[in-house]
Amino acid sequence: MTYKPGLPKEHRIYVNRSLNFGSIKLVGFDMDHTLAPYKKETFENLAFRKTLEKFIEAGYPQALLQLEFKPNFLIRGLLVDHKNGNLLKVDGHKYVKKAYHGYRELTKEERYELYNKRSFRAQDFLSLDSFFALSEVQLFVEIVDFMNRNPNQIQKTFLEVYQDLRWFIDLCHRDGSIKNEVLKDPGTYIIRDKHLPTTLLRLRDAEKFLFLLTNSRYDYTNEIMSFILNDAHEAFSHWKEYWDMMIVGAGKPTFFSGTQPFFEVVEASNLLKIHEGPFHPNRIYHGGNATLFEKLTGYRGDEILYVGDHIYGDIIHSKGSLNWRTLVVIEELEEEIAKLAKYSDALEEIYRQIAEKEKLDEDLQRLRSKLAANKRHRLHADKVSKEPEAIDAERLQHEFDAKITLLKNLEIHIKALTAQREAGFHPVWGELMKVGLERSRFANQLDSYGCLYTSRVSNMRFYSPYKRFLAAKEQLPHEEA
Ligand SMILES: [Mg+2]
Repeated sequence: MTYKPGLPKEHRIYVNRSLNFGSIKLVGFDMDHTLAPYKKETFENLAFRKTLEKFIEAGYPQALLQLEFKPNFLIRGLLVDHKNGNLLKVDGHKYVKKAYHGYRELTKEERYELYNKRSFRAQDFLSLDSFFALSEVQLFVEIVDFMNRNPNQIQKTFLEVYQDLRWFIDLCHRDGSIKNEVLKDPGTYIIRDKHLPTTLLRLRDAEKFLFLLTNSRYDYTNEIMSFILNDAHEAFSHWKEYWDMMIVGAGKPTFFSGTQPFFEVVEASNLLKIHEGPFHPNRIYHGGNATLFEKLTGYRGDEILYVGDHIYGDIIHSKGSLNWRTLVVIEELEEEIAKLAKYSDALEEIYRQIAEKEKLDEDLQRLRSKLAANKRHRLHADKVSKEPEAIDAERLQHEFDAKITLLKNLEIHIKALTAQREAGFHPVWGELMKVGLERSRFANQLDSYGCLYTSRVSNMRFYSPYKRFLAAKEQLPHEEA
């Protein structure tokens, strides 16, 4: 938590690991979904339809064209079991708490048989943690559902369908079918944050070097960056003026561990030429790798802050292998924070009922011991004392049974309250950061690899570029008061 009086929670930067912003010399930014947030409904629908067209071109049934994009079914942080056509929500202890096959929820027994019976290996599944993957997985859900409703129309396994899906998406990226549509009318698909220019300028004024590090290729990057930054502030008319270094086609996450050389983009011909010397501002570089980047800039990992939205592509590898400091942009945070406030009373009520249940549990343990002692007495006592003890046993048993019924009812009530609260966050999957009352796998990854997190890049403008971000004290269960 960061103490920042008066700043609404949705604009705050949250701290997992302490970071002295003053000692950060280089601040790097991802582009798609970080500097340039996409409009969820329009963009995902576009990607969904364009990929679907590829299915039809490849000979899949025409009936698939009737599939509808449902923008609200999925959330990030799920795992995809592409072999069985299932979606999973997993808690921080790798327990599958919720699963869907198409649009049908799996029962507890099905979940147990498939996932919870043995040790769960998250690496066997695909992680739905980027925004680009949302439309892809939504299309997979639709096709799984179609295959279940229309047996024999598609003579393929779920895994084969998923492999085709991946191939068709790559095809869309290669032939530009999605990107060309976006470029025709960027305003339909991309959000232009009016506070972004000031945010970047404040960092520059504090003498931090700014760099762009995106996987998008130059032609697309140029158009999108022009849309979000050209003529957006009186200080600079062109987007390139904001940056000390610009790297496109970076190929993250391999950029963070690979050995690919840097190329310079020759703008006149749109060709690449190998680059070896220092970086020049105003020139565009392509590819490269982080080790060489550190060498050419002369800065160490802990002097670099990288801002990105994709936990796997941007954050895990930059933090994990290079010790770059990280700021994760989580678009969903604004909505989650609003819902946390909305359902705070509901959460309090759940904890009150849990405390009640614990009290009842203790009463039951006490009664259980009494009943056992009573039974032992009756077995060993002489006949004179047996009668009153038998009456006592009956009373105890009665009390015990009544409390068991109370406990069962209370458990049902707590379950219902928790489900109701979760549905307020998302009708199918609940909170992004939680599964029931436990941390989700997504929250665990964020905690492990994201030093800081916030809902949008422009929240950085509320903080001094020299701010010391301090993490809350980390307490282990035995240290709590
Ligand atoms: Mg991104």
